[in-house]
Amino acid sequence: MDITKLEQRYEGKAKKVFATSDPSYYIVEYKDDATAFNGLKHGTITGKGVINNKMSNMMFRLLEKNGVKTHFVEQLSDRETLVKAVEIVPLEIIIRNTAAGSFSKRYGVEEGTALKCPTLEFSLKNDALNDPLINDSHIIALGVATEDELKAIREMAYKVNDVLKEFFAGIGVKLVDFKIEAGRLPDGSIILADEISPDTCRFWDAKTNEKLDKDRFRRDMGGVEEAYEEIFRRITEQKNV
Ligand code: UDP
Repeated sequence: MDITKLEQRYEGKAKKVFATSDPSYYIVEYKDDATAFNGLKHGTITGKGVINNKMSNMMFRLLEKNGVKTHFVEQLSDRETLVKAVEIVPLEIIIRNTAAGSFSKRYGVEEGTALKCPTLEFSLKNDALNDPLINDSHIIALGVATEDELKAIREMAYKVNDVLKEFFAGIGVKLVDFKIEAGRLPDGSIILADEISPDTCRFWDAKTNEKLDKDRFRRDMGGVEEAYEEIFRRITEQKNV
């Protein structure tokens, strides 16, 4: 596609978003910057931007093949991808298969406890408020999303879980939990946006439970770059993506 990168529209913690010569598309650029605890902890994970860009794109292709509509259009370089311009629904959409992180703390459940069913949880994307948990009724009452949008988001989230859980099981990885974001296209439809990477998912080795994700950075465990590389290696050795 013949599209020119224009001015930066937005800079987030891990990505920059640029306008393009076609208003229907943005270019996202993945950075090596890492933050945790709502920006309180800062660092760099060398090579993360390249891995997260390529890995997210592989996951989006896999999901598209399985009927999930995503913002992915075309990878432009190691760190840059052309995506459909969407309006992001300000929700962190989290699915959990196994208790970990804030869920374990909040409910006093040991990390690693298998949940009886995949659990969907929403937080309002609002740094100033520390991304508070929000329920379906709040979402509709506050006009964050409509009832129909919420239904589409729920269906999308469970479908993403089904596809990813199976894929990662095939490469010896347990998908503990993950966060996705939804975008609105101009026609009002909901599609998958943002990224799917070790920044936004918890991946545990299926045999050893070794953490292969951003928790190594959050918890100062060391081996952060190696964990991102290991997940990426396993994905790329799998021919389906
Ligand atoms: N997550 C994310 N961005 C956030 C918060 C959470 O990508 O701002 C992901 C996180 O990597 C994990 C899942 O969502 O895979 C659930 O995170 P949790 O609520 O347990 O939060 P944490 O323990 O990271 O504070």
